Amino acid sequence: MNETLHRNEAPRVSMFGNLDLCGVMRGRSVPAVRTDEVLAQGLPWVPTNIMLSPFNTIPAGNPFGPMGETRIVGDPATRMTLPPAGERPALDLFLCELKNIDGQPWPLCPRNQLKAAIAKLRDEFGLVIKAGFEQECYIHGVQEVPTPAFSLAGTRAISGLADAVQAVLATAGTRLDQFVAEYGEHQFEIASPAADVLLSADQAVMAREAIRDAARLRGWSATFAPKPDPEQPGSGVHIHLSLWTTDGKPVTAEQDALTETSGAFVAGLLRDLTAVMGFTTPSGNSFDRLLPSSWVGVFNCFGERNREAAIRLCPRPLEPDGVNPAASIEFRVADGGCNPYLALAALIHAGMNGLRDGLPAPESIDRDPATIDKAECEARGIAPIASSLEEVLGVLRDSPFLDSTFGPLFRTAYLAVLENTRADRDVIGDEYATRYSRVI
Ligand code: GLU
Ligand code: MG
Repeated sequence: MNETLHRNEAPRVSMFGNLDLCGVMRGRSVPAVRTDEVLAQGLPWVPTNIMLSPFNTIPAGNPFGPMGETRIVGDPATRMTLPPAGERPALDLFLCELKNIDGQPWPLCPRNQLKAAIAKLRDEFGLVIKAGFEQECYIHGVQEVPTPAFSLAGTRAISGLADAVQAVLATAGTRLDQFVAEYGEHQFEIASPAADVLLSADQAVMAREAIRDAARLRGWSATFAPKPDPEQPGSGVHIHLSLWTTDGKPVTAEQDALTETSGAFVAGLLRDLTAVMGFTTPSGNSFDRLLPSSWVGVFNCFGERNREAAIRLCPRPLEPDGVNPAASIEFRVADGGCNPYLALAALIHAGMNGLRDGLPAPESIDRDPATIDKAECEARGIAPIASSLEEVLGVLRDSPFLDSTFGPLFRTAYLAVLENTRADRDVIGDEYATRYSRVI
């Protein structure tokens, strides 16, 4: 098999892909000879396509129906080459943005929504963010029998696949930062390097697609679904953020604690957490994972080094002046059903709301909140996070969050998508997690 996997041949197909609102890569492809022309002009794209569920159902109440037209336009800097295998030729994947016919950004384009949030953070607060994604997944086929968590045996089992993924990512000028044999049976984690926030989302998407593709080419399967098997640990996506001034000064942490700036940002995230979950845990399988005492972060609180808090501060060795340049804020209530562009945009908007209102830094909770009695939790403002997509939908419908951040057209479309996700889950019933795991 490796002989065919390493066939040396130029890509013969270019795919122009966009990660839709449910986190599925969809797009159009052309013979490689058309690549430059299509990079310059884009391809036609049907507005409703961005709203399909992972099962290809079209949300009732979608604002487009058969109408409208957008263009799917590739960013040449994102070219990633998938290798040839068997009868499949090598393929160049370009990550795309969706634009109106006049070339203006289309309000539903996730990558453009993230760019808008980044610009707002810079212009209004003089801040930039670096982000890094840790993504957990189950890979079936890579090992016959499960190996001990974090073991050499587990690492050896995954290292061939990780190597193939590195080779693919290298074609896009990126790489993995770490790969880990995780706690669950056949569960692994891939971490992408910290980078400017737009690039960090591109890297997260590329890493997912590269590992799914490398697994498929070997007859295996990789799933980032949050809870494919109720008996096994869930798969999270942990999003690390660090805040910097535009002139390069780190402002995430000082002496192992949040700064005034990062404190207000984190307080904003916690205040809008339910709305943010509409973007970070948006699938019908997400709430199967969100269980207490499983290191998922099901309490709306902040805790330095606390893996049961929704948001954790991960300190790193201090510099002599007490500055902690490598420290990051880790947001743990996210999973592989999220669209990384939208998840980051939602996090930035919620954080900016905290900065705008000058919120005080939250208290750091130093225990598993599940072990703190109810009265104390109430007194200290520690509440459980939302426990269902219905709850999230209710908050998103009633709060100004969507209108004030992503805008009214996006709001209408996104609420219809989440409602459709909820309905799909009800219709599919017990088979949902299995069927979802085949797509995500
Ligand atoms: N698997 C856990 C989750 O679903 C995370 C475990 C860890 O801290 O790596 O988020
Ligand atoms: Mg992990």
